[in-house]
Amino acid sequence: MKRKRLGRKAYWLMGLTVMLVVLAVIYVQRGEEPTSHSSSSDDDPSVSSEQQHVLDVAARDAAQYDYDQAIRQLEESEGSAQNKTQAVIDTYRQKKEALVSWDSDQPIPHLFFHSLIVDEQRAFDGDGMSQGYRDYMVTVEEFQAILKDLYERDYVLVTMDDIAQPNADGTMTYQDLQLPPGKKPMVLSQDDLSYYEYMDGDGFADKLILDEQGDVTNTYVNANGETKQGSYDMVPLIDDFVQEHPDFSYHGSKGVAAVTGYNGVLGYRTSASEYGPDSDHPNPDLKADQQQAQQVAEAMKADGWNFASHTWGHLNVQETSLAHLQTDTQRWKEEVAPIVGDTSTMIFAFGSDLSDWHPYHGAKYEWLRDQGYRYFANVDASTEAWKQLEPGYFRQARINVDGMRMREALQGQTDVLDAFFDVEDIYSDQR
Ligand SMILES: [Zn+2]
Repeated sequence: MKRKRLGRKAYWLMGLTVMLVVLAVIYVQRGEEPTSHSSSSDDDPSVSSEQQHVLDVAARDAAQYDYDQAIRQLEESEGSAQNKTQAVIDTYRQKKEALVSWDSDQPIPHLFFHSLIVDEQRAFDGDGMSQGYRDYMVTVEEFQAILKDLYERDYVLVTMDDIAQPNADGTMTYQDLQLPPGKKPMVLSQDDLSYYEYMDGDGFADKLILDEQGDVTNTYVNANGETKQGSYDMVPLIDDFVQEHPDFSYHGSKGVAAVTGYNGVLGYRTSASEYGPDSDHPNPDLKADQQQAQQVAEAMKADGWNFASHTWGHLNVQETSLAHLQTDTQRWKEEVAPIVGDTSTMIFAFGSDLSDWHPYHGAKYEWLRDQGYRYFANVDASTEAWKQLEPGYFRQARINVDGMRMREALQGQTDVLDAFFDVEDIYSDQR
């Protein structure tokens, strides 16, 4: 007892000492003013606070390689003629000159994840779901380490429509991706961003919500039943990371969220057919949940996220009949599109696809094309990257980053993750 109390006192004294040292350092630094701290509003009296704001916004666009946008904003601003603004414009022009067009023959990897495990103890608690989580999910800590590795290895986030877009006559065309030498584009996506009913109580985030600033964040109920708000899954974690490292994102792009409809979207039970008044499990807040989910989706889209259909019912497109695919597509348009917006991207469930590597043809493809789909993604972890541009669509293969893939890597059965991160380093010892 006594020793413990003494120990606490020692810690308290140590804490006090550290605090005093910090205060002393602050005092000394203040004494040395004026220092040229890197804060954006260095006290240049010639630059108004409005102009400084324009400069800050432009600086962010420039950090994300969008020099055209940055220069345009500065040229159109009130203070465009001022020396400081002119100097910044010149710098951005030079940096833009140094960019190189990405060779469209070069591979562009696409990695995908499911919802991230926040509480490993509850996910891996040995119940019927544990093995599934171990196989298909990545933990928050693992994911954060992966992001760090990707960034340090010079990857830059793009979305599929940064890579290809329909031109004036509708032909899908590679876009001019301009990056500094050495930087490499890649796509990240998250499947099944619904916080399915079965995950309840297993240590995952609950839903995506907007915080007081209107930013997208999660709610999460911890093991003690307390509801927390913060970054507990991929979307806000990437938002945070890009906030800190804007140059990890190309022109503000973040990733693609693939959503089904049968359990609603983004953690809200929004499906009228599943949760309407006449259903088996009516959601009394259906309308309010639909509205909230829609606001979250709007904020995500404004912040660099795209949405994809993952089919309404998590269909295996290869095994399903054309008729079922058709009713499913319509249901997605009725129940999901009003919330996340219409989309031209189809991320197939079960890693399925319409065909092998040969260009798409046939009735299912014709149907999806008529419904406006132009971007398709399957799963193929046999290679670092694979993509296909046809006049009618752009298709990309994705690598599933999950427990199974990481175990394979640790056992030397695959080296497909080597380019992206150090599996041994990031692999959770609680798995
Ligand atoms: Zn899925």
